[in-house]
Amino acid sequence: MQKTILITGGAGFIGSHVVRRLVNGYPEYQIINLDALTYAGNLENLKDIENKPNYQFVKGDITDDDFIQKLFRKYQFDGVMHLAAESHVDRSISNPMEFIMTNIVGTVNLLNAAREIWKDDYSGKRFYHISTDEVYGSLGATGFFTETTSYDPKSPYSASKASSDHLVRAYHNTYGLPVVISNCSNNYGPNQFPEKLIPLAINNIKNNKPIPIYGKGENIRDWLYVEDHARAIDLIFQEGKEGETYNIGGNNEWTNIDLIRTLCKVMDKKLDREPGTSEKLITFVKDRAGHDLRYAIDSSKLMNELGWKPSLQFEEGIEKTVDWYLGNQEWLENIVNGTYENYYREMYENR
Ligand code: NAD
Repeated sequence: MQKTILITGGAGFIGSHVVRRLVNGYPEYQIINLDALTYAGNLENLKDIENKPNYQFVKGDITDDDFIQKLFRKYQFDGVMHLAAESHVDRSISNPMEFIMTNIVGTVNLLNAAREIWKDDYSGKRFYHISTDEVYGSLGATGFFTETTSYDPKSPYSASKASSDHLVRAYHNTYGLPVVISNCSNNYGPNQFPEKLIPLAINNIKNNKPIPIYGKGENIRDWLYVEDHARAIDLIFQEGKEGETYNIGGNNEWTNIDLIRTLCKVMDKKLDREPGTSEKLITFVKDRAGHDLRYAIDSSKLMNELGWKPSLQFEEGIEKTVDWYLGNQEWLENIVNGTYENYYREMYENR
């Protein structure tokens, strides 16, 4: 069936994989990618599909209420997949207000605009909010986050995402807006901005620079390959039950230090370096304030109800990721030149 779908944040890391999947997989859909192109947005991520007839890019900011209302009136979207966000915990610690504006106010602008054009006739309509497992707070050594775990966000980033999740649910409960939400664990893979752990380490190893690790590297995260997340998002958008939440995870927990040691071994092999060379670059730095100890996701609802499961083992995913970064040096260099350098120095070199 013909549909016009808005994807917000489609020039970012996960959004670009979702846009590509939808544009290639559903030629009958018209995909509108709305993105403000902040430091994290990069249209290079979508070079391969930019001329497809069912794809259009619109530059714009979800915090601009007027603009959002006009956009919705113009395109009369049938569905919204909302990924636009400020997404980096460290940046939320130094500048929380941008996170409040984009993640909370921006989300409410989209909810209001959807309500307005759908005018309470919700048949065939869907508002899909993409969120994070960080809203659940931190786990001890055992246990998993499920869809009924109480929210307990600890950083300005996770608090802003928790707030937007609550608002999306409130619009469902109050106005009947047909929403669905998913909360996913840490993603990795091609096109991730090199402020996040894995691409940052790949870039530093390649350039023989120290790899900064917070504290003792004991924090535990669950990692999922980004294309597996995009596949889950596609499935939930098509088949998820209205008003429901789905947790998405890789069942793949690593301490940061073990993950980086594994990555170092792959990098030594790919760069033809003596085994152990990259590991020497590991440097422990002062821990992040309020650093959550462990996140782990129980995705059995998504697996049992919709039949999703991760397709890649971590070792395979990390090798694919390294190959992508080493094969796309220009993409990386365009990013790490300029303002990134100042940010990097502030975050890691003056600690
Ligand atoms: P990202 O930072 O790579 O991309 C975010 C995109 O949103 C960028 O293209 C940016 O330009 C755009 N954007 C930011 N502010 C905007 C605004 N005001 N108006 C319009 N566009 C704006 O983020 P990501 O890692 O791809 O994450 C995408 C979504 O998935 C986020 O909502 C995030 O909370 C969620 N998520 C991320 C992860 C992860 O591991 N990266 C895990 C779970 C959930």
